[in-house]
Amino acid sequence: MPERLLNPWLVEFGTTIFAEMSALATATGAINLGQGFPDTDGPAEVADAAVAAIRAGHNQYPPGLGIADLRLAVAEHQERFYGLEFDPDTEVLITAGATEAIAGAMLSLLVPGDEVVLFEPYYDSHVAGIAMARAERRLVTLRPPHYRFDPDELAAAIGPRTRMMVVNSPHNPTGKVFDRQELEFIAELCRRHDLLVVTDEVYEHLAYDGTHIPLATLPGMRERTITVSSAGKTFSFTGWKVGWVCAPAELRAAVTAAKQFLTYVNGAPFQHAVAVGLRLGDDYFDGLRAGLRARRDQLTDGLAAAGFEPYRPAGTYFVTADVRPLGFDDGMALCRRLPELCGVVAVPNVVFYDNEHEGRHLVRFAFCKRPEVLEEAVARLSKLGDRR
Ligand code: GLN
Repeated sequence: MPERLLNPWLVEFGTTIFAEMSALATATGAINLGQGFPDTDGPAEVADAAVAAIRAGHNQYPPGLGIADLRLAVAEHQERFYGLEFDPDTEVLITAGATEAIAGAMLSLLVPGDEVVLFEPYYDSHVAGIAMARAERRLVTLRPPHYRFDPDELAAAIGPRTRMMVVNSPHNPTGKVFDRQELEFIAELCRRHDLLVVTDEVYEHLAYDGTHIPLATLPGMRERTITVSSAGKTFSFTGWKVGWVCAPAELRAAVTAAKQFLTYVNGAPFQHAVAVGLRLGDDYFDGLRAGLRARRDQLTDGLAAAGFEPYRPAGTYFVTADVRPLGFDDGMALCRRLPELCGVVAVPNVVFYDNEHEGRHLVRFAFCKRPEVLEEAVARLSKLGDRR
């Protein structure tokens, strides 16, 4: 066996925290509030459309760009919700989830030595994508309770080698929804320094306080932005792995150049079904948001009553809590013991930071679960104070 196995650029990533914590939940039978996935299926008409597509024989490779009807449905969705116009033939690309879209954007648009500015805590695949492109990250820390950034710090993070910014809103893991003023400040820096932007908008329909504003809607931004989203969170089918890119033709072509050698294509029958989902009426999108808002409040209030200090998220289906009021100070150690202490799994936010002291005492819980599951989880977590 050769001595060097794993490519050194990937060594720091190990196994994702989501895989580790879901395996822990399976092994212990604990309630899994770690990895973010709903415990109920999405809309029946969307599931039925997938079954019908399989039965109708849509089971071979779809076109490299994704099926035409889904590209059209994505373009219609961007117009309907945000007034953004994209040409489905030249400006939309279907991907294997947002993760492939992001990796494809990094691999096609960055060269070794380029710098990418993004916020910390970060979603793990964003920094892994930067590393796989042999580029370097420059981080700006978002701090609770409001997770606002320091404008001077952001401006100072941009240097002569900066090529790209990554903006994830609504933001995983914090649940922050960037407001117009923050986005305008980001946009102004991107225009001034002529930067590309990759946005991750997979929680776009899960903004409870404030509204989701795609960065591409701001002046001068559409031409430099690779807008990324996906079906997983919006339709509660996270295992289908259907995502998309909306970007000007040149940028879409660049991302396609990498994407075609990552998965090539995926999910033919699911692509048909997601087109049905994207065309559901407003009542569906409003109902999804209202249901999750209620569960956000249930879990946030429950965590507070259990002695944590939770930061009520404006969006996503995650809530972050400080564990220090309960007498713990190491979120990673606590998450590893949590199943044995009280039969619940969560994710330690420290893995989303380079500056580990910033996130050491923070833990993330997912609330995309049935109310009775959240109720039981809160009951179990309430006993934690007595058990340390
Ligand atoms: N997006 C999911 C989360 O944040 C995890 C997806 C994954 O396991 N990679 O929990």
